[in-house]
This record gives sequence, C-alpha cells and structure tokens, in this order.
Amino acid sequence: MLKFFNTLSRQVEEFHPIDKGKVRMYICGPTVWNFAHIGNFRTFVFGDILRRYLKFKGFELTHVMNLTDIDDRIINEAAARNISIDEFTAPFAQYFLEDFDALGNERPEIIPHATHHIPEMIDIISTLLANGHAYESEGSIYYRIAAFPEYGKLSKISFSGNKAGGSERIDTDKYDKEDARDFALWKLVDEDEQPGWDAPFGRGRPGWHIECSAMSMKYLGPTFDLHAGGMDLQFPHHENEIAQSEGATGKLFSKYWIHSEFLKIDDVTMSKSKGNFFTFRDLKEQGYSPLAIRYLLLSVPYRKQLNFTFEGLQGAETTIERLRNFRSIISDLKLAAGSNPEAVASVTKALADFETAMDDDLNTAAALAAVHDMVREINTIMANEGILADDQAAVLDAVAKFDSVLGIFGEEASVLLDHNIEALIAERQDARHNRDFARSDEIRDELAAKGIILEDTKDGVRWKRK
Ligand code: AMP
Ligand code: ZN
Repeated sequence: MLKFFNTLSRQVEEFHPIDKGKVRMYICGPTVWNFAHIGNFRTFVFGDILRRYLKFKGFELTHVMNLTDIDDRIINEAAARNISIDEFTAPFAQYFLEDFDALGNERPEIIPHATHHIPEMIDIISTLLANGHAYESEGSIYYRIAAFPEYGKLSKISFSGNKAGGSERIDTDKYDKEDARDFALWKLVDEDEQPGWDAPFGRGRPGWHIECSAMSMKYLGPTFDLHAGGMDLQFPHHENEIAQSEGATGKLFSKYWIHSEFLKIDDVTMSKSKGNFFTFRDLKEQGYSPLAIRYLLLSVPYRKQLNFTFEGLQGAETTIERLRNFRSIISDLKLAAGSNPEAVASVTKALADFETAMDDDLNTAAALAAVHDMVREINTIMANEGILADDQAAVLDAVAKFDSVLGIFGEEASVLLDHNIEALIAERQDARHNRDFARSDEIRDELAAKGIILEDTKDGVRWKRK
C-alpha cells in the first residue's frame, strides 16, 4: 500500500486518490530567469520519481508543472536589457526543459506558462473581491487573511499576535495593507508600464502565489489529489495558494501535500542568492554524466537533506557504470534453457523489496539497496556459471521495471538476446528460400548494425558477436 507523508496532516497516510485509478497532481515549476541549479533539480527529479512511481502503481496521471515566467527579478532583468519579459524568459524556459530532459525526467502532461493564464488569475481575484477574501488598497489587490481562519493549516505557523511586521517571514512591502500578513494578489502598474494587464479592478500584474492557484485549478479542477514542491514553498507560497483557492471555491484544494528537502553544499542550502550553486551545465562541462547526477540526487530519500560533494558525485559515476555493465554483460550471455531457483529467488525478493521501499513514502535509498542486492547476488550466480536463459530474461525484466521508476540505467546499447538473433536468422533463411534477397540482406545489415556477424557455412548459418 502506497503511503506518503502528508504535510497537511504531518502524518504518513495511505494514498487514495479522489477518482479511483486516476491521479491529478501539481508540482510547482521553476522561475525561468536563469539556469536552474542542481538544488532545483533535486526537487524536479523527486517530482519525476513521484510521477513514475504513481505510473508504476498503475495510476493514470495528469501532472501539471508550471513555468513561472513573470516576477520582479524577471521584470528587472528584462528592463535592464531593454527587451520584453517573453524575450527574456523564452531561452531560459528552453534551457530548463533541455536540462530537465537530459536528467532523464519525463515531461509532465501539461507545462503551462504563468503569463498565458492571466484571465484565469483575474477570475479568481474577482471572486475573492466579491466574497470578501480580498480588498483593494492604493490600486493593488490584497488577500485578506483575517477572512480565512484556516490560514496556517499547512505550515502550522502560528500567526496569533503577528500583526504589522512582527516576523521577518511576513511580506513587509511598502504598500498599505490592513494586516502585515496580507499578501498581494494583483500589483497596480501605471498606464504605460510593461508588463501590465487590464482587469476589472485596474491595470496590473499578478502576484506569484495566484499563478499556481489559477494554473492548478484550470487543469485539475477545484479539488485535486496531490500538490508538491520544495520545502521552502510550504510557506508562504503553498499556504497562500490554499488561502486563495479555498477562499474562492469553498472546497478543499489539494488532498495531499508533499515537500522535498534541500540539496545543501557544505551544509548550507544551495541557492542562487547565496551563490553556492552548480548548474547542471556546470557539472556536465566538468565531464560528469547526467545519469550520475540523477543517481546522486535521488539516492537520499526526499525528506532528508542531501549534502552535495564531488566525492559523492564520483561515487555515483562508478555506481552507474557498474549497473550499466551488469545489464550489458547479462544481456550478452548465450545461455542454456531453464532457470536456477537461486536466481529466481533473488529477482523475486528484489522486486518485492523495491516496491515495499517505494510504497514506504518513496524510500529511494532502500529501493536502490534492493537493486544493488540483486546485482550482487546475480553476479555471484553468474560467476559460478549458474545462470540460465529464463533467469536472464527475468533479471532483464526486473531491471526494466526498476528503471521505469529510477531512470538510472540509461539507454540500452541496443542489445539483442540470443533467441531474438536466432529468430531473425530463421527469418533470413526463409527469405532466402523464397528468393527474397532484399529482405535477407536487410536482416543481415540489421544484425551487423548490432554487432552480430553471420557466417554462411555448409552446415547452416553460424553467428557471433563482434
Ligand atoms: P524556483 O525556480 O526558485 O521557483 O525553484 C524551483 C524549485 O526548486 C522549487 O520547488 C524550490 O523549492 C526548489 N529548490 C530551490 N533550492 C533548492 C535546493 N537547494 N534544494 C532542493 N530544492 C530546491
Ligand atoms: Zn507554485
């Protein structure tokens, strides 16, 4: 039974989506104002593991990951270059998706841009104004936290007595608010100021939090199953998303909330503002492989902090190579029919352990241990020449299952199993018999491309691997 730690309840809970067999999930995406660093990618690789494991468990998925393509940093950077915010963000959105793909992440079903959803944001703000959850002050629109008594239910931060700048976490911007905790939904801009959008409540631009309420509810409905993001988004971002969405609809926003812990470096959180970061591209340029970076990022369960070191990354590189070699060696074996009960037991146990680990709040460290145990045991059986053809197929099938979730074995160097080679040779013989030389040559070429050499002898066709 799949279980997650739900930030909302602070409990490990069984996962039951609202519609049986279907999961609607939103994971906050990047702000596309720069290259994403590997701390950001720890969160996105975690999101990918969550996605792939839900699929592994047989759920049908609608997964949304937004691109935040408007915020103060973006506006300032674009203005400094004298270009539009779209011109400024488009390349960074592209680089992000390139890095996201290169790290082996599956693309979510929907990747919406915030700036393409301004009308949806305006609708929510209009509803909040109409029902008393928002108010206007000096042309901008604020969320009235006093109108949402459940405020704080996600982050469990106590707000009692916390008026007028009582805490540094409170948004203390210069505008006039009823209460220091209140946050901007819509920021007034001048008539000719860019970017700006016309709204019934005045020309302006959206606050950050309203973007995610608008994009999640547009694609997933007012209530959906799962919302995730990095730890730092719990407060204020996710708390504010709940206040806006539930304030507007009166319905539960997301049933489960999952937050992943930070990637640190020298025990300090990796971040752009601290300057203590590596981008994916930095590490690739230094010769590290995307698979090893991915392995490192997922090797620690998501609720534990992970300290980045180059020794750790080098270790991941060695581990990946060992795993890939294992798969390629076992694929190449030419084996007698049958199966070895010891090998069967090892594969069965590894599959069961893997699923138990992942069911337990996505314990990737224990899931990897199950994979390594199987690799070690099968290596021993192979060394004793105890492996048979059915075991080979079972091991390769297990590796494919593990990798459908982990994505650490990488592309297969197109290996052909013996029985597939023999089937192609038989087909070639038939083609020759039928004087279909075009097909017979095609099969020879196909095999040659995969390193299989055919030799026609008077006793029939022999084959060997190059
Ligand atoms: P941003 O592009 O700043 O909106 O961040 C994108 C995602 O990266 C968010 O979910 C953040 O919580 C996450 N994030 C930022 N820094 C780190 C870090 N050092 N470790 C893990 N996740 C991070
Ligand atoms: Zn968000």
